[in-house]
Amino acid sequence: MRTDVILLRFGELMLKGRNRSRFENQIVQQIKRVLKPLPKAALRTESYGRMYVELNGESYEEAEKALGKVFGLLSFSPAIKTIPDMKAIEEAVLLAMNRLPRTPQTFKISVRRVNKQFPHETFELHRLLGGHVLKHFDGLKVDVHEPEVDLHVEIRHLETFVYSESVPGPGGFPLGSNGRAMLMLSGGIDSPVAGWFAMKRGLRIEAVHFHSYPYTSERAKQKVIDLTRSLAEYAGSIHLHLVPFTDIQTRLKETCRENLIITLMRRAMFRITEQLAERREALAIVTGESLGQVASQTLANMNVIGRAASLPVLRPLVTMDKLEIIPLAQKIGTFSTSILPYEDCCTLFVPKSPSTNPSLKVVERQEQWMEEWLPEAIREAVERTETLLLKPDDKSEEDRLF
Ligand code: ATP
Ligand code: MG
Repeated sequence: MRTDVILLRFGELMLKGRNRSRFENQIVQQIKRVLKPLPKAALRTESYGRMYVELNGESYEEAEKALGKVFGLLSFSPAIKTIPDMKAIEEAVLLAMNRLPRTPQTFKISVRRVNKQFPHETFELHRLLGGHVLKHFDGLKVDVHEPEVDLHVEIRHLETFVYSESVPGPGGFPLGSNGRAMLMLSGGIDSPVAGWFAMKRGLRIEAVHFHSYPYTSERAKQKVIDLTRSLAEYAGSIHLHLVPFTDIQTRLKETCRENLIITLMRRAMFRITEQLAERREALAIVTGESLGQVASQTLANMNVIGRAASLPVLRPLVTMDKLEIIPLAQKIGTFSTSILPYEDCCTLFVPKSPSTNPSLKVVERQEQWMEEWLPEAIREAVERTETLLLKPDDKSEEDRLF
């Protein structure tokens, strides 16, 4: 199938107002990044936020896959490029019809005549090009209201684009255009999906993972590194903060009421994440929580746990069922890693009957009894956090920061 250029479309919000040039720069960066493996492909930008990719012989299928990872991209159209000449346009229109997966019963032509000097007027072009197509396809009819195929012909000064397909992009906002957030990344199915949604909404994320080495294995850590790398396909690179949580977990287990350990652990996690957020100038915490999914995600627990943080806690999956989350995890490419069996830190300390309705007062009182050691242990965990900068699947580029 011949595709010369890909026309790109962005969300309305991106093209208007004061943020436009900032959004545009961010999206240009992301498009160039995903197109790097296709060195001949070139991004062209024009005024009014129009952009298109010249493939210069690179594979359209590869480019389509790559563009599916650019947030802020609403849709795109693979197009044939030709010169602004009637004969050439007629040929391109036939080519576009011939490459459809099957011949439609109805079609229409939509001309955009950007080049006002082009010898034929728009209405005349509809008639001429429509007639040309009808001559070559038996039984085909024009339907201007609900055509099966809408063949767009955009006649510009130096070139003409012909296209009929519109492929949906991921939508959302350009990465980073809405600021930075810390993603609590567990190694399960949910939190990577939550991270993807946060990025889709324009947040640059940094992942925070709590591990209980040696109770949790090196492989559990590797799993979270791999998940972060998968998410980095959508961002270029992502920082992963690995927080040593063993001391806090074991001391909590010794001191607190057994049924409250999960609640207290999660509050400690939020506090640590918040301190890391402050260091990294992030303004929100993202989690993979989904209302009622497990004992620690009842509304009462969410309330008591969430109060440990003063930053906004974003829970993109809060109203989703597991059965809705799983296909998303498959689609974004994290599912197969998420279902690897290695334990994460919480499963090891799960009590027989965790409280589903904890009282904030009781929890706070328990924490008061831990005043002597807990705040210090939290500070220490932050200090001993190890940070990696991870890129998609390129194991050599691992970079230890602290
Ligand atoms: P997930 O599939 O994301 O692990 P889950 O269904 O297993 O979620 P929980 O284990 O209750 O749910 O965790 C709820 C949320 O708390 C997770 O989505 C994640 O954001 C955060 N979380 C849990 N454990 C960890 C961890 N070890 N490190 C970082 N964040 C964690
Ligand atoms: Mg989990």
